[in-house]
Amino acid sequence: MNSAMHIAQHTALIDQYGRQKRKLRLSITDRCNFKCSYCMPEHPKWIKKHKLLSFDALYQFCQFMVQRGIEQIRITGGEPLMRQGVVEFIAQLQSLRSLGLKRISMTTNGHYLAQHALALKQAGLDDLNVSLDSLDEDQFKQLTQKEIQPVLAGIAQAQRVGLVVKVNCVLIKNCNENQIIPLVHWAKHQQIELRFIEFMPLDGDQKWSVTDVVTEQEILNELATAFHQIDMIQQMNNPARQYSIDGTVIGIISTISHSFCHQCDRLRLTAEGEFYNCLFAKKGLNIKYLLDHLTPQNTTQTELEAQLLQAIWSKAQGFSEIQAQQPRVRKISMHMMGG
Ligand code: SAM
Ligand code: SF4
Repeated sequence: MNSAMHIAQHTALIDQYGRQKRKLRLSITDRCNFKCSYCMPEHPKWIKKHKLLSFDALYQFCQFMVQRGIEQIRITGGEPLMRQGVVEFIAQLQSLRSLGLKRISMTTNGHYLAQHALALKQAGLDDLNVSLDSLDEDQFKQLTQKEIQPVLAGIAQAQRVGLVVKVNCVLIKNCNENQIIPLVHWAKHQQIELRFIEFMPLDGDQKWSVTDVVTEQEILNELATAFHQIDMIQQMNNPARQYSIDGTVIGIISTISHSFCHQCDRLRLTAEGEFYNCLFAKKGLNIKYLLDHLTPQNTTQTELEAQLLQAIWSKAQGFSEIQAQQPRVRKISMHMMGG
């Protein structure tokens, strides 16, 4: 079947392996005040401000995507709370709920969260993922080049104003594995859902090695040294495999050891308008020009739809297949892609 026929047949956001897309991640800036060793390059080259997609273009894009089946939008970065206007943008997105948008979320490092939490809640944000890789002040600083206190204050404030908060921890071998047990105790005490994430080959300086990954099995082994009852919970359509640890639910996102690619329902857009059909795709599709000219009525809609449906359709099977075909080709890092 040629690609033109695919486009004619698939007006919904679906790929060649039958995976329907329901989630969109928008990176609204590549800038960040942290320098996490597993993410940011030593010498980042920031996107020039005039090259960022405007919030207006982002809104038009979101509307376009929600009309075609996107149900959840996650705002990320870089650090999304560093871009002025993000709260107003979230407020603007509320109008898409009547078109089918069900959830508006954000992933943040939490540093500026305390001052923005109430406004985010009032703007209609549903939930937040906050990164917290260590509870040890020195280790946190070593990993991120920033202090932990504002992050803990941000998490507390977000909970106080009624935002649903999850905490993400990227584990790196011989670095912060000693935080697995303290973080589970802390999450239980704070009544926060905690997720451990396997380190992925998306660090800015491309130093990742498979030997740096703390695998799901290694996390479970470590947990077994401190907790009695570890049970896997039925996994729904969720990339994190969930476990009950003596009654506390945690998640493990094991992209490297147990990829969830077979059920991937995500699409991504970078802050400069590159559309990615996969976190590990070697290339994006530049749609900035189209997004800059998109309105609900104009012909750009037809052009954008044709390009996007084709890009979505051709999404690769998954991480393992991409790695097997082109192990050393890498173009983009996590601070650009947004996680
Ligand atoms: N600055 C925000 C933050 O840190 O939460 C949002 C952007 S950050 C790129 C999004 C998520 O990607 C964070 O949870 C971060 O821990 C995760 N991340 C970054 N680099 C990673 C890597 N190499 N492997 C796995 N997760 C990574
Ligand atoms: Fe910044 Fe988030 Fe990357 Fe850390 S993980 S450097 S906080 S973008």
